[in-house]
Amino acid sequence: MAEALLEWYAEHARELPWRGTDDPYRVLVSEVMLQQTRVETVRPYYQRWMERFPTLAELARAPIDDVLQLWEGLGYYRRAHNLHAAARQIQEQQDGRIPYEARHLRELPGVGEYTAAAVAAIAFDQDQIALDGNLKRVLARLFAVDEPVDRPATARRLRGLALEMMPGGQAADFNQALMDLGARVCISGTPLCGECPLRAWCQAFKQGIQEQLPVRSAREAAPLVHRAALVVTKNSLVLVGKRPANAMLAGLWEFPRFEVNGQVGRQIENWAQANLGLGVKMGREIGQFSHAYSHFRVLERAYLCEWMSGRPRSEKHQVLKWVRLSGLSELPMGKLARSIATALAEVKTLHHRDH
Ligand code: SF4
Repeated sequence: MAEALLEWYAEHARELPWRGTDDPYRVLVSEVMLQQTRVETVRPYYQRWMERFPTLAELARAPIDDVLQLWEGLGYYRRAHNLHAAARQIQEQQDGRIPYEARHLRELPGVGEYTAAAVAAIAFDQDQIALDGNLKRVLARLFAVDEPVDRPATARRLRGLALEMMPGGQAADFNQALMDLGARVCISGTPLCGECPLRAWCQAFKQGIQEQLPVRSAREAAPLVHRAALVVTKNSLVLVGKRPANAMLAGLWEFPRFEVNGQVGRQIENWAQANLGLGVKMGREIGQFSHAYSHFRVLERAYLCEWMSGRPRSEKHQVLKWVRLSGLSELPMGKLARSIATALAEVKTLHHRDH
């Protein structure tokens, strides 16, 4: 079975910018970028990253703001902070050498079981299985495993089955072959069994249950959070805040915002006074922006607010500052704040009095 898989891979491997290398730094960066993110989205980010930080030493030397700027739009920003911290840790404590064993890789910030296994297998040919959603689907079908694949016990079983099937010392090709089979042939929904090199061994195919696998535990829908964002304007300047270092979207810039219950109404002006130390006059709505994070969804309404009085202060930001509209593009931002900034660029005038 493994031989058929590896033969297929030799002919059908995907051409990806992070393939064909066993440089552990490149493998680490690509695997972190690929967490929760599609290959086509990662491709240009990876290329820009490698031009700017071709080595671990260069990444370790770079200021975090440069790293965040390059990451902008890729989401899950904690990954960028962790990669940067991992590079510094390896540079300072391990003489710039990335560890080759999965258990040592896991000591790096942001490197979990999957990423450690992927780097150990792909860069160092260690006998590890990088078990992500794709591999779980392929393996659950191959061995007709009908237990929910999101349970740790099922994951252990699938990993064990894959390890038994893997020829020693070929972990890099074997893992990538399974990844590519999952991306190209054993796709979710209806797999392309007619093109599959493993059809003769596949238990799900034999039983005709390939479309019913894999099974997942029933999950509750992510809750929806309603928020209001304030685009406070003062002449031709707008107010933005830098998020704290230990929060979600750490170090990124945003328009001050808060969670709302029910109608926004006067909540905005009262909130600005209490939380920003500013008297503002609420203006019109700029738009509604939504985004799904891993555990919740957000619907954010953004409002123009004209500054009336006070010096901005906030406990929820490292710093608040007034910037020109043209300066917003240079600040690293999360998805929602960037959408608001883009919509702002289309607003003809910021001032209510200018209408
Ligand atoms: Fe997947 Fe079909 Fe191949 Fe089985 S035969 S591994 S279900 S593509």
